[in-house]
Parts: sequence; C-alpha cells; structure tokens
Amino acid sequence: MARRKFVAGNWKMNTTKAQAVDLAKAVAAGAPAGVEAGIAPPFVYLDAVGQAVAGSSVLLGAQDVYFENDGAFTGEISIGMLKDLGVRFILTGHSERRHVIKEPAELVAKKASAVYSKGLILVHCIGEKLEERDANKTFEVCQKQIDELDPALFTDPARLVIAYEPVWAIGTGRTASDAQAQEAHAFIRQYIAKRWNASFADAVRIQYGGSMKPDNAAGLMAQPDVDGGLIGGAALKADSFLGIVRAGAPS
Ligand code: PEP
Repeated sequence: MARRKFVAGNWKMNTTKAQAVDLAKAVAAGAPAGVEAGIAPPFVYLDAVGQAVAGSSVLLGAQDVYFENDGAFTGEISIGMLKDLGVRFILTGHSERRHVIKEPAELVAKKASAVYSKGLILVHCIGEKLEERDANKTFEVCQKQIDELDPALFTDPARLVIAYEPVWAIGTGRTASDAQAQEAHAFIRQYIAKRWNASFADAVRIQYGGSMKPDNAAGLMAQPDVDGGLIGGAALKADSFLGIVRAGAPS
C-alpha cells in the first residue's frame, strides 16, 4: 500500500511568539502537495500558530496533553482544550518526556488512549537508549512501548502514527543509518501486524526521528518502511524543515 508520508516538526520549548508565527507562516506558504506536514509549537503559541496556518494544508499538533477531560489538575491541558484551538495530532511518549521528565509508561499509555478516543491523530514515540541498543535490546524496547497501545481501542490506522526515535539520535547530530532505520521500522511493522493484523500494519505510518536533516531525509524516507519524519532541531528553520518535507513528496 502507498502510504502518504507525514513530516512533523516538534518545536519543543523554543521560539518567541513572534518567531513562532513567522515560522508557521513560512511553513504554510512553502508546504508542497503530496506529503502531509505538521507543526507542534509550545502550548502557549498554539492559538497564534493555528491562526497563522489556517486555510493551509499544515496540520497543527501538540507536544503533550493530559488524559482527563477537566477538573483539578493544576497546570495540565486537556484534549478538549487542544481541539478548541484546532489541534489535529498529539505526541505521546517523546523521549524527553519519558527520560528527562520521567513520565511513567502507565501515564504515557493513558494519554495515548485518550488522544485516540477523542478522535485525534496520535503520534506515539518509541525508541531505545544507546545502552539498550548496545545490549541488543532495541526490538524489546520498541515492543514494550508499542504494548502501551491497546489493539482493541486503536482500530483506525489513519489515526495512529508511530515515531521511531532512537534516543541516541535525538538532538545529537548522530542519525541512524538508512539501514538501521529500515531494520527497526520493518520490525515495528511486523510487530504491529502480529498485535493487530497485516492490513492494519500495512496502513500505519511509521516516522523516523533523530537528527533528520535536509541532507539525510531523502535516503531515510526512501526506505520502504519509513513513512516520514518527526523533526526537532531542523524544524526551527523554515528552509530546513521544508527541505525535509519536500524530500518526502512523491517524485
Ligand atoms: C525529536 O525531538 O523528536 C527529534 C527528532 O529531535 P532532533 O531532530 O533534533 O534530533
């Protein structure tokens, strides 16, 4: 099956409001056809960025969320609030949330279920740390993090995206080779086929994330199981982000 590539920018805790709006406008103006592009700015700029990309094909995303609908959860943001601002996709399980902020797997799983249940696109991030790769535990870690998703709940493959992001490649400038990425993505797709079924696995998009740049994006996205990218550092400049998005467009 031909899966449409999806390239999403995770801006993390970066930009001022003015920079966020300028970047969003430039991305919206330059996004090519044939590939899906999305941007996930900091929460506080979602409204302004949403207005900047309104009417374009660029999807608005959020970097995190809380799973409850409302109530006494000081500092948290609900899915309903994000939907109000036009958010279409939400990240869960990003390595910085798992390993820096120490978000436990149970919480990641609850957030993932809530995002899907409320009708949004889930981008569920998985990936091994360097010591886990060195100990040949890459597949085991990916399997465990995919197990955070319940196959009985996630029935529409169009609203599930897995972002394979080896932790050792995130923000380090050390990208996985095309072969390393393809090996992990092929495993992930096989495991999804086992837990769901072959046609579901065939339709699910698997993004690669970890120091993807305009000069390595084409090689990575040419791999049969790499269906786009989740981009950190290179998403903060319109030229480099759009260079990656263009590398995912059909030739
Ligand atoms: C990320 O944070 O999801 C990421 C892939 O970052 P970078 O592109 O900077 O490695």
